[in-house]
Amino acid sequence: MCQNIAQKGVAARRLCALTAMLAVLVGASPPVAGTEPAVVDSDVFLARELARVQPASSAASDRVRAILAKMTLREKVGQLTQLTLEAVTTPQDQMLQLDPVKLRRAVVDYGTGSILNVRDQALTVTRWRDLLREIQAAAGQTRLKIPVLYGIDSIHGATYVKGATLFPQPLGMAATWNPELLLAGSRIAAAETRAAGIPWNFSPILDVGRQPLWPRLFETFGEDTYVASVMGVAAVRGYQGDDLASPKSVAATLKHYVGYSVPTSGHDRTPALIPEITLREHLLPPFAVGVRAGAAAVMVNSGEVNGVPGHVDRVLLDDVLRGELGFDGLVVSDWEDIKKLVSIHRVAVDEKDATRQAMLAGIDMSMVPLDLSFHDALVALVEDGAVPMARLDAAVTRVLTLKERLGLLDDPLLGTAEPAEVGGREARATALAAARESIVLLANHKSALPLLPAGASPSSGSAAKARPRLLVTGPTAHSRAALENGWSLVWQGNREDLYPPDWPTVKEALEERFGSDRLRYVPGSTYDAEVDIAAAVAAAREVDVAIVCLGEMAYAETPGNIDDLALPDAQLRLARAVAETGTPMVLVLVEGRPRIVRPVVDLAAAVVLALNPGQEGGRAVAEVLAGDVSPSGRLPITYPRWPHALRTYDHKAYEEQDTSFGLTAYRPQWDFGWGLSYTTFEYSGLTVEPASAEIGAELTVSVTVSNRGARAGAEVAQLYVTDEVASVTPPVKRLRRFAKVWLAPGESRALTFKLRRGDFSFIGRDRRPIVEPGDFTVAIGGLRAKLALRGGG
Ligand code: BGC
Repeated sequence: MCQNIAQKGVAARRLCALTAMLAVLVGASPPVAGTEPAVVDSDVFLARELARVQPASSAASDRVRAILAKMTLREKVGQLTQLTLEAVTTPQDQMLQLDPVKLRRAVVDYGTGSILNVRDQALTVTRWRDLLREIQAAAGQTRLKIPVLYGIDSIHGATYVKGATLFPQPLGMAATWNPELLLAGSRIAAAETRAAGIPWNFSPILDVGRQPLWPRLFETFGEDTYVASVMGVAAVRGYQGDDLASPKSVAATLKHYVGYSVPTSGHDRTPALIPEITLREHLLPPFAVGVRAGAAAVMVNSGEVNGVPGHVDRVLLDDVLRGELGFDGLVVSDWEDIKKLVSIHRVAVDEKDATRQAMLAGIDMSMVPLDLSFHDALVALVEDGAVPMARLDAAVTRVLTLKERLGLLDDPLLGTAEPAEVGGREARATALAAARESIVLLANHKSALPLLPAGASPSSGSAAKARPRLLVTGPTAHSRAALENGWSLVWQGNREDLYPPDWPTVKEALEERFGSDRLRYVPGSTYDAEVDIAAAVAAAREVDVAIVCLGEMAYAETPGNIDDLALPDAQLRLARAVAETGTPMVLVLVEGRPRIVRPVVDLAAAVVLALNPGQEGGRAVAEVLAGDVSPSGRLPITYPRWPHALRTYDHKAYEEQDTSFGLTAYRPQWDFGWGLSYTTFEYSGLTVEPASAEIGAELTVSVTVSNRGARAGAEVAQLYVTDEVASVTPPVKRLRRFAKVWLAPGESRALTFKLRRGDFSFIGRDRRPIVEPGDFTVAIGGLRAKLALRGGG
C-alpha cells in the first residue's frame, strides 16, 4: 500500500506514516516507546483538516446539466428513488441472488437511482463486486446509462464486508480523544468499503449523545458538542479524502439531521422537545462543521422535534440546513420515513400527501425502500403541478452531481479493479491502537491494576511466577458481539457465529496473555439470567483475582430500547456473589451506554470500561489489565450514578447546589472527561494572556503537563471555559479545547491553546450567538485562571 506513495497525495502519505508506526505495535507487548505522536491538539487538527477541504463548485457541471436536459419525468423520479437490496433479490436462503425480473423492473423500467444495504449477512469483496457488476449492468441497459449509487452503513469499518476491519464504535473512538486515530480508521473503512464497489457511506452520526438511554448512543461521539465536532470532521475527512473519485474514498453522510438523539422517552424514533437555544447551542454545531468539512450527503431525523417530523420540517431542512449552514449536497430520507409520515407520525393522509410534503420540505432522495410506490406518487405529483419541476430538477442535479464526483459516470465500478486490500495488517494495527486508546480506567483502588509488574511478558520465565490465577466470568467475557455491538457484519451485530475466531474475546485474550493454565472461565450469568453463579463463586475462591465482565450484548436501533439504565439483576447478583468471596474483583464493563453500576461498584478493586472497542477490543482489555498498555481513554459522556439523574457535564450551576437534606444534587458516578492511567500527571503554570482583552481578541492559554509517575502514559488535557454571568443562564463549564499528550516518565510538556471569539459565545435570547463582556474562568487539569472581556458582543 505504501509503495509509490509519492504519487498518492498528502492524505495517503499521512496514513502510511501512521500505519507504519502502528504496525510496529501489533503483537508488540509492551508497545514500543516513542512511537506515538507527542501531542494531538484538537484545534490544530481541525484547522489543518478544514484547510484541506477542496471547495466543491455549487454549480452543476455541463455534463450533469446535459444529462438532466435529456431526462424524462420518470427517469428523474427514478434517480430520487432508493431501494433496499432485498427489493431486487430472490427470497433469501443461504445464497443471496439478484432476481432478474425484480432487478429489471426496478433499475431498467423504473430507473431506480440508488440501492442500499444487505440483509442479515456480510458478503465477501468478491461477492459484492459480482453483485455490483450485475446491478450496474442493469443500469447500463437504461436509455441514459446512469449508474446506480450503492450505499451501506460502514459506521465503524466496512460493516457488511466479510474480512473487513472493525474499529471501536464511534463512542469508543470518542473515548480515545484522538481524532488522528479516527481519521486513519475512517480512511481504512472507506478503502475497504469502496473495494467492495460501494461508494456511499451512511456515516458519521453527528447526533450529540445527550440521552444515555437512547439505544444509538454508541453510534455517537458522546455528549459534548465540541468533541462531536472534532470527531465528525475526522470521520468526514477520513471517508472522503481529498478526492471522492479515488478508489479509496466514499461519500460521507451526516446523520440524522437534527435532534434525533435526545428523545424524551429515551426510545429510538420517539418525540424530542428541543428549545431553539438548545438546538443551536448543542445539536447543530457538529452538522455545521461537518458541512464545512465537505460532507457529500445528509440523512434526515426519523423522529420529530417539537411536534414536527424531521422529514417535513421545512424550516430545519431548507432555511437552516441549506440557508444557514450552506449545505449544497444530497439530502436523503431515512428508512421508510416518507411512508411513516402516514403510518406513524400521522401528518399526512396518504403516501402521495406525504411525498408532496417531504419533497417540498427539502428531501432529495427517498429511502423508500421496499417498493416503487414513491416513484408512482412523485410522478403523479409533478404531473398535477403539486411538486414543481424546478424542485425535482434541483434534487436530481444533486444526485447526478454526487455520482459524477464519485467518478461513477466514468466508471460505475470504480474501486473494484484493484486487488482488494481488506483486513490487512496495517488496518488491524490501527484497529488495535484505537481499541487500546479507547479503554477507560474508571477506578483503581490501592493500585489493584495492572495485574503484572512493569516489563513482564508472557515469555519471560520470571514473570511466569508472577502471573496471578484468574477467574473470568460474566456475560460479556466471552462474546465477540458484545465487543462489537450493532452494525457489525449484520445489522444487529449479534451473530457470534459470523465473527472470525482470531478476533479474541476478553476471555480468549486473557488466556493468550496470562496462559490458559492460570485462567478459569465460568459464564456466571447471561445478560439477564443467572447461569451458574455458584460455580463462579467456587472458582473465585481458588484464584487471586476475579475479572467480572458485565454490560450489554449487541443491539441496534429500536431492538436496543430499554426502560431502565440499571444493569439487570442477574449481573448484579453475580458481581455481589463473587465479591463476597473476598477475592479482589475487577469489573470490566463492555457496553454501548452507561449502565448503572452503583450497587456493586464499591465492591470492586478496579473498574475498566470498554465502549464497544471492536475486533481488537478483547486484546486491548487484556493488555490494559496486564499492564502492557497504560490506559489513556477518557469518558466522552457523563457516567450516571442513578437512573433518573441523567444530567450532562455542562448542566446549569444551580443543578449543583446541595439540597436542604444535605444531598448533592449533581453527583454522577464518573464525570465526563474522567479516566485514570498507570502513571500520574500534574499540571502547573496555567496562564491566560492577556488576562483582560477586547471581545474578539485572540487569547493564549499556557499550561505545563508533567508525568510524575514511573511509567510512560498519555494524558488528555481538557480546557474548559466558564462564563461567570450571562443573559442566558450559563452552564457550569464548556469544553473548548483538548490535547492528547504522550509523556515519558519524568517528562514535561508545555501546551498552548488559542481561544477565539467563538469560545466565549453562547446562543442568546434572540437565538443568535453572542459574546457578552465580563469575567470568565479557564480551567485545565484542576487549575483555574481568570480573564475578563471588554466591549460589545
Ligand atoms: C437508520 C439509519 C441507516 C439506515 C440504512 C435506518 O434504520 O436509522 O441510520 O443509515 O437505516 O441502513
